[in-house]
Amino acid sequence: MLKIFIISIFTFFTLRADIELELSDTNIANAQTLLVKFKADLLDPVIEKKYVAFEGKRYPFYKNPMQKGRSFYALIPVDYYAKAKKSELVIVYVVNGEKYYSAFKMEIYEKEYKKERLKVASSRVKFSKKDKKRIKKERIEAMKIYRKKSKRFYPKAPFIYPLDSKITSAFGTKRIFNDTLKSYHSGTDFRAKKGEPVKAVADGKVVLVKNRFFAGNSIIIDHGQGVYSGYYHLSKFKVKKGEFVKRGQVIALAGATGRVTGPHLHLSMRVNAVQVDPIDFIKTVNLLLYR
Ligand SMILES: [Zn+2]
Repeated sequence: MLKIFIISIFTFFTLRADIELELSDTNIANAQTLLVKFKADLLDPVIEKKYVAFEGKRYPFYKNPMQKGRSFYALIPVDYYAKAKKSELVIVYVVNGEKYYSAFKMEIYEKEYKKERLKVASSRVKFSKKDKKRIKKERIEAMKIYRKKSKRFYPKAPFIYPLDSKITSAFGTKRIFNDTLKSYHSGTDFRAKKGEPVKAVADGKVVLVKNRFFAGNSIIIDHGQGVYSGYYHLSKFKVKKGEFVKRGQVIALAGATGRVTGPHLHLSMRVNAVQVDPIDFIKTVNLLLYR
């Protein structure tokens, strides 16, 4: 069943007779993630320097965690603020010393994220010097984490949601303060009462457990190869920094810490340091992780 599903949504391209490429899509919206699979059935292959070039960046192919042999994958995130344009995705690889390029037309389009207009007194969106310092420090600390790429990819099974509850606020809602686009909702909110158990979306290593200004009590899990999940506004931590966690393991209890109006769970996902739509990411990465 699942295999048929994957085939129907992937686009296949054959290059060399022994190389097969699969793209999860040929169009991609801002804040969405693209999956590229690379399979080589060479008898005596020496495949080197495999990467995807897209929008001026290079993304290496990693070993497919679900398949033995010469199967690889790359995850390509698109930034939320990316503008609609025609683009090109180039796959580069070297076989027995010979360099190959395969280019595919890609279109980046702007998804119609919801708008939220907020009229607030300017004093309410201003922070004290001390708070500003803390916000900056926390941002730098988080970006340092997101830029690290662990060699291993820990998940061996499809990602799950952290809670079996309703999504109360979708990713990407534009926040327009006094007619100016100030920010966007950078994660997915799940309905949760205070004290409700929050589960890890996949196997990984806990890399941050701390209270932060906006996110309140926060946990970040490193899933490997540039993939991170974040769980915010928690009331209680159930894991420690450095601990390895399993998919579905209770890592915390939900709460209302940080700058929020009520209890809920905010789930965030990062790929190669880019903030992406968690629900879209989970659907995309699961195309890799289903057998
Ligand atoms: Zn949120």
